[in-house]
Amino acid sequence: MNVYDSDRMADVLAPEGYARTDDADDADLVILNTCHIREKAAEKVYSELGRLRRKDGPVIAVAGCVAQAEGEEVLRRAPNVDLVVGPQTYHRLPQLLRDAARKRGVVDTDFPAETKFGDMPPPALGGPAAFLTIQEGCDKFCAFCVVPYTRGAEYSRPGDEVIEEARGLVAAGAREITLLGQNVNAYHGCDDGLAGLIRMLDEIDGLDRIRYTTSHPRDMSDALIAAHAEIPSLMPYLHLPVQSGSDGILKRMNRQHAAADYEEIIVRIRAARPDIALSSDFIVGHPGESDADFEETLALIERVRYAQAYSFKYSPRPGTPAAEADDQVPEPVKAERLARLQELLNRHQLEFNDQFVGRDMAVLLDRAGRRDGQLAGRSPYNQAVHVTFSGAEEARAFLGRIVTVRIAEAKPNSLSGTPVVDPAMEGAA
Ligand code: SAH
Ligand code: SF4
Repeated sequence: MNVYDSDRMADVLAPEGYARTDDADDADLVILNTCHIREKAAEKVYSELGRLRRKDGPVIAVAGCVAQAEGEEVLRRAPNVDLVVGPQTYHRLPQLLRDAARKRGVVDTDFPAETKFGDMPPPALGGPAAFLTIQEGCDKFCAFCVVPYTRGAEYSRPGDEVIEEARGLVAAGAREITLLGQNVNAYHGCDDGLAGLIRMLDEIDGLDRIRYTTSHPRDMSDALIAAHAEIPSLMPYLHLPVQSGSDGILKRMNRQHAAADYEEIIVRIRAARPDIALSSDFIVGHPGESDADFEETLALIERVRYAQAYSFKYSPRPGTPAAEADDQVPEPVKAERLARLQELLNRHQLEFNDQFVGRDMAVLLDRAGRRDGQLAGRSPYNQAVHVTFSGAEEARAFLGRIVTVRIAEAKPNSLSGTPVVDPAMEGAA
């Protein structure tokens, strides 16, 4: 979502005469778009701000959830910051920068009644795989999580606004759109929620692939599960975080479901789309997590078998209930559990990827590869795929296209292979 937000900030500032640069030393304005989800992400901001301190330096803005959560505190810890702006008011950036030019240290962490979306220009930059935020904020209040405080209450953009933006992205070259939201399957901006929106998007000519992230198990509706069976452009990949396999910990986390409820959803999704690749987030060492609780998480992973997953040590976030708990798990225990968990997840991930060796997959080639003559892209199952062409020229011709690739090698985090289409042919979808 921060990638999407950063693009939109660039769009808002373009009419003011700002253009992007890849070189921070060359910039008149540096905006750090920040994340507050774990302490490590938040602390990175201050080391980055320290690095930006130089004579005749650029105007510095801190945006994103650290800005929202810490406000004035950012200015106290980093006096070289000119502007602090939370995620809800990016449409005000031009004015805020003018204010900051007169008097440094401007802070805007409002939750305004109007939404920023209506006041921002449509995305200007094209790319084969685009993001589109359709929902923001969260009302779930999981005990560990800072999102409901930094991103505010759940908000769904109206369906027609989303469709219009999607058409613009496709016109600018997008073949795939990933719909974004903190709780995207709670989307209610049109009839039938996210499932209804996906059906409308499926009608857009030239939009070959639809994805969405992140979902909460409680909001996995029957209509959405059916969409996975019925809509070919909806890719066979689902990121459905469970966090823990222990009912006791799920309760402590305020996740509002038991492990069995989650596994029942997985059964239904697999019935709808047998080949679906599943992904999750896991937190180890949540307050109160015993060895037995942790073993239940490992057991759930063994039963579900994820194609892919993200896992984190619990990080206490100021202002959240879990941070106040008096049964925090010691750091070495968290580290050991994380290592064991990741070892298991990696094993499953490699097993998942291995099954594709020797097979052909449709890969959307959306970016340059590591070397000349290579491109990288995504399989339908959201695997990263590195593709080697006969040379740089051939590679260039295939950028942005969906190409059949014969997989030669699998690693835990990626596949690699070569194109099987005749380069003289159109890249087949
Ligand atoms: N809305 C999504 C998650 C958004 S946050 C959901 O409900 O699943 C992304 C992930 O960050 C979470 O799934 C969780 O695994 C992790 N996370 C959030 N807060 C955390 C914390 N305090 N410590 C460690 N990991 C955390
Ligand atoms: Fe955070 Fe997700 Fe829980 Fe909302 S549902 S509080 S974003 S973990």
